[in-house]
Amino acid sequence: MSIPEQILALEKLAQIDAQLKELVEQLTQERSTLDGLNSGIAKLDEKLVADRGALAVMDKTRSELVQDVRNMNQQLDHSRDKLGRSRTEREANAAQRELEELRKLVRDREDEIGKLTADADAARQQIDATEIEHAKIAAELAARQGEISTRLKEVEGSAQHKRAERDAAVKALPPQLYRRYDMIRLKRGTAIAQTSDGTCKACHMALPPQLFHRLRREPILEQCPSCHRLIYFSPPEVAAGAAATERG
Ligand SMILES: [Zn+2]
Repeated sequence: MSIPEQILALEKLAQIDAQLKELVEQLTQERSTLDGLNSGIAKLDEKLVADRGALAVMDKTRSELVQDVRNMNQQLDHSRDKLGRSRTEREANAAQRELEELRKLVRDREDEIGKLTADADAARQQIDATEIEHAKIAAELAARQGEISTRLKEVEGSAQHKRAERDAAVKALPPQLYRRYDMIRLKRGTAIAQTSDGTCKACHMALPPQLFHRLRREPILEQCPSCHRLIYFSPPEVAAGAAATERG
């Protein structure tokens, strides 16, 4: 395999790798949109379970307190009867004290009931708001899920196709050259660089003049001393054409 053929094969592989990278980024983006919506719903589900649990506890405590007040009101009636029936001042005083204590207990319970009622109302409002938000995200998920999973399948299909293309492009290269290419690609993102004017087009550093002269004299593949990418000479007009192809 001649050097120009190697360069062509490497450029082809680099192009495939750039397309694969883009496909993988698209996949990641589509998946993260889906994951974001799903985890948003999961979080709201958790919140609803916790808030509904807390509300149930408040409602239960409240109804126990209401029952307490009912019992105490019966005791109050009983104490009032006692007061009415008391024969001595001592009996009357005792009944009076009992009445006052009971009234204070009832007031305390009623205060607690009032507080619990306000807290429970606030909790209900919060739950309503969470349910609205939940419904909104669920609707968005329902609307977008089909579109996203279709898109995911498409992109996955393209990526699989690209990988097969890549395998073929790799087989066309001398194994040692491919290993060098891939080692640099994994480290740098891209592995190939050109030079037309003595600077590396990938890292924009000036090449040692001797290296540039050698690159220009005959078709060879070298490594850029700054970024270690595989570098070759590309005449300016051809480079312009290649850049346009890359952009397209
Ligand atoms: Zn470089």
